[in-house]
Amino acid sequence: MADWTRLIRDIPDFPKPGIVFKDISPVLADAAAFADAVEAMAAPWRAAPPQAVLGVEARGFILGAAMAQALGCGFVPVRKPGKLPGPVLAQDYALEYGSDRLEVHVDALPAHSRVVVVDDVLATGGTLAAAVALAQRQGMAVAGAAVLVELSALAGRTRWMHPLPLLAAAAW
Ligand code: IMP
Repeated sequence: MADWTRLIRDIPDFPKPGIVFKDISPVLADAAAFADAVEAMAAPWRAAPPQAVLGVEARGFILGAAMAQALGCGFVPVRKPGKLPGPVLAQDYALEYGSDRLEVHVDALPAHSRVVVVDDVLATGGTLAAAVALAQRQGMAVAGAAVLVELSALAGRTRWMHPLPLLAAAAW
């Protein structure tokens, strides 16, 4: 298997001066790398697949939907404010570049559904923590979370207050 992580590139000063952004687009553009990356995220959950993957907008949609297909489970979008058409539950959170809000449909899944939360990058950990809180407030059973890349220097894992697995396919 070729090393898909070598395709992740650094973009300096995005979205603000001083920030070095990890751009995963080249991984998605390469068929073999994309498949290997999704498999690296999905494999740990194959023994006990969730009922659904909860993907965080926007790159969590791409990876989460592919992961759901690989695991044979459903996909639920966790979206930025005002994007979902039906009644939603909302969760505010702080992130590396400001603050934001996530929303999920209140009727997305039956109560107690087992889910895995998915995003592309773990930075400070605020986004993933908010998505988990949202799922738990809705009565979902969160089995854990999966990200493609963990930025270890930002210590996002310290905001992961759960005994649940937080699995990163690659870490810097
Ligand atoms: P956190 O909430 O600080 O962990 O930031 C994670 C969220 O911000 C994820 O939804 C990522 O998509 C995005 N993000 C933060 N830093 C980066 C980066 O370097 N590359 C790509 N996405 C990033």
